[in-house]
Amino acid sequence: MASAPAPGVVVVFDFDRTIIDWDSDDWVITKLGAADASRRLRPTMRWNPLMDRMMAELHARGKTAEDIRDCHRSAPLDAHVISAIKTAAALGCDLKVVSDANTFFIETVLAHHGVLGCFSEISTNPARVDADGRLRISPFHDSAATPHGCSLCPENMCKGKIIEKIQAMASTKNQHFIYIGDGKGDYCPSLKLGEGDYVMSKENYPLWKLICSNKQLLKFIHGIVARNWKRLYLSWSTR
Ligand SMILES: [Mg+2]
Ligand SMILES: [Zn+2]
Repeated sequence: MASAPAPGVVVVFDFDRTIIDWDSDDWVITKLGAADASRRLRPTMRWNPLMDRMMAELHARGKTAEDIRDCHRSAPLDAHVISAIKTAAALGCDLKVVSDANTFFIETVLAHHGVLGCFSEISTNPARVDADGRLRISPFHDSAATPHGCSLCPENMCKGKIIEKIQAMASTKNQHFIYIGDGKGDYCPSLKLGEGDYVMSKENYPLWKLICSNKQLLKFIHGIVARNWKRLYLSWSTR
C-alpha cells in the first residue's frame, strides 16, 4: 500500500473538461436537441443566464429534470478519473469541486459513478427544480447585491474568491493545495496559490496557455503542468 501524503492536502477539481472530458452544459443541450436555440441566444447572453434560459427551453420541449439526469448518467467518465478520486480520498486528502457548472449536473455525475461521497465540498452555481418541474440555475455570486469585483472572472463566479475562502477556513497552516483545471476561469484561483501548492493543467487548454504566457505571476507555485493529470496524479498518490 502506498504511503500517505503529508496531512492537510486539499485537492481542488474543476469539473467540466477536468473530472469529465466534456462540457456538461454542452452535453445536455446537444443530447436533448436544443443546440440550435443555444447558438441563437449565445451572442446575446452571458453563459450563466443562458444556461438557465436553456433549461426553460428544454422544459418547453417536454424534457423533464429526470431526462436531464438520465442524459448526464449516460455520459462516460474515464476510469482513471474515478480511480484517482477514490485513491486521493482513501489517502486522506480533502477533495473539493470548484466549478462554473451547477449542483444538479455535478451531483448527478458524481453520484452515478459512486464518488460523490469522496468530496467534502462542491462550490458551484446553485440549481433547483421549480414547482413547474423546470430546472433553474442561479449565479454563485449575486452580481447585483455582492459583486465579486474580480476582472479576470465572469460576474457569476470568481473561483479565486472561493479558494481564498477555503484557505481562510484551513484548520492547519500546513495545508497544501493541488488545483486541477483546464479553463480560463481556473487561472484566477491558480494565482491565489502559494509555496508548496501545485497547479495541474491540461496541455494546450486555456489555463495552460495563460500560465505559459504569464509564468512570472506563478513564481511562488511549483507549477506542474501536466499533459495527463490523471496519470501524474496517480503516480504522485502512489509514490
Ligand atoms: Mg473546465
Ligand atoms: Zn477571479
